Amino acid sequence: MKKNDCITTEIVDIGIAGEGIGKVDGYTLFIKDAVVGDVVEAKIMKANKGYGYAKLTKLITPSPYRVDEKCSVARQCGGCQLQALSYEKQLDFKSNKVRNNLIRLGGFDPTFVDTIFQPILGMDDPWAYRNKAQFPFGLDKDNSAITGFYAGRTHSIIPNTTCDIGNPINERILEIILDFVKSEKIGIYNEKIQKGLLRHVLIRTSHATDDIMVCLIINGVKIPKIEKLIHILKTLPGMASISISVNKKNTNVIMGDHYEVVWGMPYIADAIEGVSYHISPLSFYQVNPVQTAVLYKKALEYANLNSQEVVWDLYCGIGTISLFLAQKAKQVYGVEIVPQAIEDAKKNAELNNMDNIEFFVGKAEDILPEQYKKTKCKPEVIVVDPPRKGCDETLLQTMLEMSPERIVYVSCDPATLARDLKILCESKYNLAEVTPVDMFPMTVHIESVAYLTLRSNGESGVLS
Ligand code: SAH
Repeated sequence: MKKNDCITTEIVDIGIAGEGIGKVDGYTLFIKDAVVGDVVEAKIMKANKGYGYAKLTKLITPSPYRVDEKCSVARQCGGCQLQALSYEKQLDFKSNKVRNNLIRLGGFDPTFVDTIFQPILGMDDPWAYRNKAQFPFGLDKDNSAITGFYAGRTHSIIPNTTCDIGNPINERILEIILDFVKSEKIGIYNEKIQKGLLRHVLIRTSHATDDIMVCLIINGVKIPKIEKLIHILKTLPGMASISISVNKKNTNVIMGDHYEVVWGMPYIADAIEGVSYHISPLSFYQVNPVQTAVLYKKALEYANLNSQEVVWDLYCGIGTISLFLAQKAKQVYGVEIVPQAIEDAKKNAELNNMDNIEFFVGKAEDILPEQYKKTKCKPEVIVVDPPRKGCDETLLQTMLEMSPERIVYVSCDPATLARDLKILCESKYNLAEVTPVDMFPMTVHIESVAYLTLRSNGESGVLS
């Protein structure tokens, strides 16, 4: 196989970035925009040893799983990699991904996995689910202000004010901002020369209250004539908070380190299953409120609490899971690396009148061993919800030493989940259940929650 070769192949699998995978005489080809089940003609763009990348040139036989993309820019935009695949098939793909990781990377026996693996929890309506969007601003070739999405893996903006997985209100807000920017001749930030004022807008909405938050991210100290913009934005039903965050750094990080409220409240209010949360512009908060409730309920079910237990919630963010657990536990300890998130977590505990939670700022792999050494505490349950890289080895070893009755592992990366479960289960835990939850329909991302129980003395190791 070499560059510019044209081939015909059937798409047999889906790659990690959502691309189609075809095989020609044992040679693997990654083909963007091809859907599993398609027969395609493609041109090789890059040929490595053993695998290459090809461009879809002709769809010979469309896959039975192919559906019309709802969004007109689905192919250019990097956000939704799976829009052309039926939702049912997306769920199958994600479920298989978790299952295969448990087998290949976790070393669990396939027959055993089938006994503990639960059906994926998908959405009834997998659209308009996101409660948060960040739109960059730029200029088109006529120097007119635009906003939209970065084309996959680039920083060129595809003009678009609608997003089918986002809240429909975003469009109205973006139009208001664009009108204001154009009429008041507000400068637009140019990344290449790091000049210009307006960089991004963050829009957040509350599922429970319909509150709206708008935060403008600028390379400067203030926006001229902002009162004119506020005057219009505040007429939108639900508008609760308008703020500015200054970011003068040449970085991919969107938000600045601080924010200043220019109208309304410093937060919006949301609630998940009766627990209330205040979300400020800089807080981490799950982006799919409907599925967050599904995920947290599953985690709470696995924690199996009876008001008597001591629980550690590691990687707790703004304490969302901690508060959920505290309703049913004797005492909850939360650990999170970002100090601001812990400030929010403490306020959220107060807001819900919960006094059985204590929060620690620091790395989970430092705090847990320190506290264990100091207090020799023996919690009944440990919950972890780490970022994609999974748990630190020191943390896993401390968890093994502490030997809680139950571990609930919430994961956004099935590969690191499988790696960590292997360590826990080779030592002294049984994998009791794994449930994938679709938090991010139309994208390749997948969340899962695993439930582990401490083996009773003498019980043999169960990887199979
Ligand atoms: N459980 C929360 C947040 C999960 S996201 C929720 O459901 O909303 C993972 C969190 O881990 C982030 O808030 C991140 O800041 C935090 N984090 C990353 N590395 C960490 C570490 N080594 N120790 C503790 N927290 C960490």
